[in-house]
Amino acid sequence: MAELNFKQELTSVFGHPVAENPTQAMIEAAYQHHGLNWRYLTIEVLPEDLGDAVRGMRAMNFRGGNLTIPHKVAVIPLLDRLSEAAELMGAVNCIVRQGDELVGENTDGKGFVQSLRELCEPAGKKVVMLGAGGAARAMSVELALADVEEITIVNRTAQRGESLVELLNTKVREKKTVQARFALWEGDYKIPEGTDVLINATSIGLYPDVNARVPIDASTINPKMIVADVISNPPETRLIKQARELGCNVLDGLGMLVNQGVIGFQLWTGVDPDPAVMRQALEDVFSS
Ligand code: NDP
Repeated sequence: MAELNFKQELTSVFGHPVAENPTQAMIEAAYQHHGLNWRYLTIEVLPEDLGDAVRGMRAMNFRGGNLTIPHKVAVIPLLDRLSEAAELMGAVNCIVRQGDELVGENTDGKGFVQSLRELCEPAGKKVVMLGAGGAARAMSVELALADVEEITIVNRTAQRGESLVELLNTKVREKKTVQARFALWEGDYKIPEGTDVLINATSIGLYPDVNARVPIDASTINPKMIVADVISNPPETRLIKQARELGCNVLDGLGMLVNQGVIGFQLWTGVDPDPAVMRQALEDVFSS
């Protein structure tokens, strides 16, 4: 008789609110596909309970987990160490157990860079980033670490955009040669000539506001540009549709979501998951 083992390995996402986060469907589909007796639990954690929740992860030997709004910064003092990227960004979206330590990682930007590499080599490219929030911060730092030449941060709130530019031109520049600059977003933004990659890192177009328009001058989109959108619901945003029609190569937000999940999965289990299984699980969720 085979040895009985009723103990499952545990991973989780902590957030507030968290009920609409679809990561569980994606990760558990991959656990099943790869025959891993692991679980991924979606757990509502209030800000004042985050310390207890992370101590609970330690006590119950969780193998790792994700953090979403509002815990990505507050979790840092509760961890033992941070990866280079998480340290630079000052935000953690993924915890990995290494021996007795809980290590903070940030996979949001890495997932994006992995998607981008399927279309081009990021080194030497000129990037325009619309937005300066958490997603823009994570992607900009990873793009800089992947040797892009220039990043223009376009944001309607100057202070947020300028602080991201400062991070790139100081702490990140100590490691890489990236040039960052800020452009205030007023009216329809004209994409500068020579831009290789345009990224919407704002929440414009997120369900249910699917018809909201990203304010850019569409005549400045060049078919040679790669156009990416972080919005995963719906995957085919208005911007993605428009760029595709103009002949651009596009990257949708579902690809980024899948790739950050792939990286987390690898870090927790040591197994390379099948991204197609994970993407299908998300498409099933969004189409139901
Ligand atoms: P934040 O709240 O941190 O940042 C939002 C950004 O969007 C800010 O720069 C904000 O500008 C800008 N913005 C919002 N509305 C408008 C508007 N009407 N006009 C101009 N700018 C606007 O959010 P996050 O960075 O965490 O997330 C952004 C999006 O990315 C979300 O939709 C999220 O779902 C998605 N995301 C997707 C991931 C994926 O894997 N696909 C991973 C992480 C996030 P301002 O500073 O002026 O307010």
